[in-house]
Amino acid sequence: MWDCAIIGGGPAGLTAATYLGRFKRDIVLIDAGESRLKRIPKSRNVPGFPDGITGGELLARMQDQASRYGALFLAGEVQAIKRGAEGFGLRLEHDTIDARTVLIATGAKLVEPELAELDAALARGLIRYCPICDGYEAQDKNIAVLGGRPGAIAEAHFLRTYSDRVSYFWQDDAMPTAAELKAAREHGIRVAQGPVGALKIGDQVEITSGRARETFDVLYPCLGCDPQSALTRDLGADHASEGGVRVGAHMETSIAGLFAAGDVLQGLDQIASACGQAAIAAVAIHNRLKA
Ligand SMILES: Cc1cc2nc3c(=O)[nH]c(=O)nc-3n(C[C@H](O)[C@H](O)[C@H](O)COP(=O)(O)OP(=O)(O)OC[C@H]3O[C@@H](n4cnc5c(N)ncnc54)[C@H](O)[C@@H]3O)c2cc1C
Repeated sequence: MWDCAIIGGGPAGLTAATYLGRFKRDIVLIDAGESRLKRIPKSRNVPGFPDGITGGELLARMQDQASRYGALFLAGEVQAIKRGAEGFGLRLEHDTIDARTVLIATGAKLVEPELAELDAALARGLIRYCPICDGYEAQDKNIAVLGGRPGAIAEAHFLRTYSDRVSYFWQDDAMPTAAELKAAREHGIRVAQGPVGALKIGDQVEITSGRARETFDVLYPCLGCDPQSALTRDLGADHASEGGVRVGAHMETSIAGLFAAGDVLQGLDQIASACGQAAIAAVAIHNRLKA
């Protein structure tokens, strides 16, 4: 029986592992190895790294830090969680694990455009996913936003902080409403008249809509981001309508002993907030185990 099983080895899970290890708790961290950190060419808003840091380097440093305090790392996917008399039972492909408490730090999954050159375009800064993270780097550029879900046009509004040239494109099922079109006009956002056709990566991003073909310095796809909350959903924990896990002030879900932190929650998907939430959760888990 472990004190805590942490599911997910991104910034949230690894921060909690470091804290709980330093509280001398027996912890196991199970990770499927798909942290969104791996996709970040360079992040410049992580506190303490004024010259920026690649997501891969940050992940390696956080893994090193957590392992120094005794976290046991298991590679794999947790397939189901069951409630038991003393805590929880986790089912992995070839194993089961019992733990008094569980921290869900499974992150979220982006809906991405279908483009063969996607990773190269990310590395070149032609495609970006998060204006809060890197809108600063897109300053004064000719920016396109591609909306694929209701309300996606809000991302174009945010990007007006950085550039006068912001155009909004939309997929078939995400046509802006009349009110959104009016607000976009008032805020100097150009909106494509018909749905987007083809996307192509060359020296720039080429977008076809109707008969028009235009090029842009950077494209922000805004097609959706799904919290990976199947495990907590199956257990019957409360969720927001958008899919994220709901937690209280100490990051405990509606199920006692089951905590959550990071992008799996409804809220700001950022490294700093994932780490902060995990720190709060780790202290609450430690206090609960003491009690
Ligand atoms: C291109 C890009 C650029 C970004 N730039 C920035 C930036 O500059 N600054 C910033 O603050 N944020 C940035 N972000 C967002 C940042 O990466 C996330 O907010 C952060 O990684 C969230 O941490 P997390 O621990 O919640 O989830 P993640 O880092 O996604 O980790 C979740 C982990 O859980 C694992 N997992 C999921 N389900 C299971 C399961 N059932 N069993 C076992 N393991 C499981 C996954 O495989 C994964 O390893 C960026 C994201 C992207 C994609």
